[in-house]
Amino acid sequence: MVENVVQIIQNKKSLSKTNRFITNEEINQLVKEHGTPLYLVDEGTLHEKVLELRNAYKKFHGHDVEIAYSIKANFNPSILKTFMKDNITFDLTSLGELFFIRELKINPENIIYTSVTEELEEYKQVLSYGVKRVVVSSYFGLINLSQAANIVGVIPKVMVRINPEVGVKAEVRASYKNGKFGVPLNGGKVDSAYYIVKSIFSSRPNLEFEGFHFHLGSQITNFICYVNALERLHSLLNKLKKEIPNFSFKTLDIGGGTPVFYNEPVPTPQEMASIYLDKLNNLVSYHGKFTLMIESGRFLVAESSLMVSKIVNTKEYNDHKIVILDTGYHLLLDAALLKQEYPQEIVSNKSNNNHLYFSSNSNKQYTGKNIQLAGRLCDTFDVFPTSKLSDLSYANIGNYVLFYNVGAYSLVFNMPFHCQTKPPVLMKTCDGDIKLIRKGTTFNDLYVEEGGLIS
Ligand SMILES: *Cc1c(COP(=O)(O)O)cnc(C)c1O
Repeated sequence: MVENVVQIIQNKKSLSKTNRFITNEEINQLVKEHGTPLYLVDEGTLHEKVLELRNAYKKFHGHDVEIAYSIKANFNPSILKTFMKDNITFDLTSLGELFFIRELKINPENIIYTSVTEELEEYKQVLSYGVKRVVVSSYFGLINLSQAANIVGVIPKVMVRINPEVGVKAEVRASYKNGKFGVPLNGGKVDSAYYIVKSIFSSRPNLEFEGFHFHLGSQITNFICYVNALERLHSLLNKLKKEIPNFSFKTLDIGGGTPVFYNEPVPTPQEMASIYLDKLNNLVSYHGKFTLMIESGRFLVAESSLMVSKIVNTKEYNDHKIVILDTGYHLLLDAALLKQEYPQEIVSNKSNNNHLYFSSNSNKQYTGKNIQLAGRLCDTFDVFPTSKLSDLSYANIGNYVLFYNVGAYSLVFNMPFHCQTKPPVLMKTCDGDIKLIRKGTTFNDLYVEEGGLIS
């Protein structure tokens, strides 16, 4: 069934599938003002993606469907402000992220906090801010949360993160046997969902049991893993119902993983949800109505952004052409880490009058296969895989290379390797204005930040 869905949309692949929200003229103008590299974000796309995700779960028969944005994918404050207008929930994992949320005065009711570390001090701060829903992933985590709740004087709504230990076909897997995240359903020890849920019920009224959470991975391409995880959860629920009088749960959070079109076509959120919506609705009929939470980082932000870089040099040998850019994996880490195939396109530089380059490097004999895009860093891994969508005709010195779909897991990985600075980020707002939402940094900023002024 999943294969069929992929088949159906196989024909859609072309650059027109990428989200081009800005004209070549505008790009030339913006580069004149801000230089390259440069990130551009489209505010309208952010809103559209929330809507698309929401619509995919319209046929869920339980209570509400809540969309939670995993801010680790991109925590730019203007992007967070855009999502605030969509009235969505924010999925946080660290006190740093909580600081951002606090500065933006986001209502703590609209937060779900899922820590990996689960420290007492951390939980005290989280609860003090007024966060109600906390996901625990270990028995000691539960103990720390319970202590923090006593100190702060609140009753948190606890969700238990299970590791369904199902196989996942994805770029990044978060469910596997003996994995770092969550607890197994039955582990024979205190670190099991079975034991932790029982502990929460016996600790009442200090802790309120809210429900379950799992997160299977990122860029998931086969959705059968959701069906398998829900089946395992169903058995656990049956077992808990037998043993705990008045057992019920209010929320089920099925995590992230909604995929984005980089190199291969991917099913839409609606096609994805159709694979396991029946299973979710089955759970409702067996166990009563609950709220469904869908988390997403990648899907909500990836297509909103593109990066503009410039071709600064080229070289040719044999039948091969190396195209050197003024960007690198310090700005697109996943190109190196995950060999992420961001779609690329060349935009001609209108003020490029260096005809010498054009005549020596006519591009027609080069296809995507023998053109290699290389970054500016002295590192073998600093090369950019091309996507089936990439069009590298006219990859000549002075022209621009657009990298599409870079909104997720790119800005947040910007790093100063080779004393590189952070580029500016511009947003095209829903009104059509262009707004600077992050200033670029300078070499001097970096020198100071790295301790250059310490005597
Ligand atoms: C990273 C993460 C997500 C988001 O995953 P995407 O693939 O970006 O949608 C959701 N939930 C949890 C717990 C995560 O760690």
